[in-house]
Amino acid sequence: MKTLYVKFIVITIGMMFISFIFAFLISNTYYQQKLKPFNDQKNTKVALNIATFSAEHPKINLTEYLESISEVGYQIYLVDSNGNEFFFGEPFRDKSLSGSIKENVLNGQIFHGILRYPQETFVTGFFANELRNTIGVPLKHNGRNFALFVRPDIKFLFYEMHILFGWILVLSIILTIVMVIINTKYLVKPISNLTKATKSLSNGDFNVELDITRHDELGELSHSFLRMARKLEQMDDMRKEFISNISHDIQSPLSNIKGYTNLLENDSINKEERTQYVSIINGEIRRLSTLTKQLLLLASLDRNEDIMKKRLFNVGQQLKELVRNYQWAISEKGIMLSYSLPDIEIIGDPSLLNTVWDNLLSNAIKYNKPNGSIEILIEKREESIFVTFDDTGIGMKNTELERIFDRFYRADMARTRTVEGTGLGLSIVATIVKLHGGHITVNSKEKVGSTFIVELPVK
Ligand code: ADP
Repeated sequence: MKTLYVKFIVITIGMMFISFIFAFLISNTYYQQKLKPFNDQKNTKVALNIATFSAEHPKINLTEYLESISEVGYQIYLVDSNGNEFFFGEPFRDKSLSGSIKENVLNGQIFHGILRYPQETFVTGFFANELRNTIGVPLKHNGRNFALFVRPDIKFLFYEMHILFGWILVLSIILTIVMVIINTKYLVKPISNLTKATKSLSNGDFNVELDITRHDELGELSHSFLRMARKLEQMDDMRKEFISNISHDIQSPLSNIKGYTNLLENDSINKEERTQYVSIINGEIRRLSTLTKQLLLLASLDRNEDIMKKRLFNVGQQLKELVRNYQWAISEKGIMLSYSLPDIEIIGDPSLLNTVWDNLLSNAIKYNKPNGSIEILIEKREESIFVTFDDTGIGMKNTELERIFDRFYRADMARTRTVEGTGLGLSIVATIVKLHGGHITVNSKEKVGSTFIVELPVK
């Protein structure tokens, strides 16, 4: 498998290699264009000095003189007009040199071998230890004509430098590779950890741990990953709780229905009991029906699909209609209802908003005290309307208030168990209000009452 780790190392080393080649080509071009002529001139001067000195001092022993010059770092080739050759200093690797060049130099010309050395891509003429790569000058000594060819002995001049630079190069390459290997491990490790974490997440294990102390993009990524893991864990918990709640809420009316139908089969029960059992069964069926309707609505709200059919409608009239429908329930409980519902038009989904008012009003009735009161108000302030449902009901504790919009949450069962409900109503209310770009707030005091205020944008 080509891991990121291997790829990174191969690419980095490849880049080093390519940069080395480029650097070589650039510096070689620089040598060919700028340094070569300079080098040629410098060595021509040296060769001419040797020739002049030899010519001006006929008494010196030429061989000894050239020997001593070669010892300070030159490679020398001397040839006379009879073709007698003498070499001084480090031997040339390649001794080939055309006869015509020697002839020309013997005849008084200067040979610029260093300047004329062929320009090749991967060859730096500076280091070429060849007879062609020399400066040739005519030399006269004691009346004899010679051709003198000279080049600096690179090995002699640069031997230690060579070794030094060689070591620097080799060491820096080795160290760079080692550092690349270590550094890449450090870079790639968090990615491998993230892969491991992703695998354990997909296996349902949300307990992942990642290094979030890094202050770079990978640290940021780990941070976001952990946030996502926590969120997924919460959602998974919610899903499990939701399923167990649904199962419970479907199971309990079904067992009630089963129990009462068993009782109905008994011939010995009287008419009164029969009517009572049938009414209980009907109640349970009603509860199941409400539950499934609410679940369906929640599912479609959750899918966020385009279930909203917005249009301009009159909220005041909608609420008055709703109040009329609940009139019997209100008077049955002896509740006093007052309202101020002016005609105000807003843009929204009338059917979904009707569900909101229906839930809030039915809760205000359900959780009210006998002979209590309810007040419903609509107010328009700037670009929003505020719909208030105020009741003098059983109220809620602060701890309960925090949870009333959670699915299936029903406050203190001891107080509400006598009241029919699913615990889904307010979560539906909150979702619909949010979908309309609105906001819902609650104030409540235990045993005193509750106020629900829905704020909706007019447009
Ligand atoms: P339910 O079907 O139980 O009424 P809701 O989601 O409508 O479900 O309400 C959640 C819980 O919030 C209720 O069970 C009740 O305990 C509390 N609650 C809601 N409205 C009121 C209210 N007006 N007064 C007191 N408690 C309320």
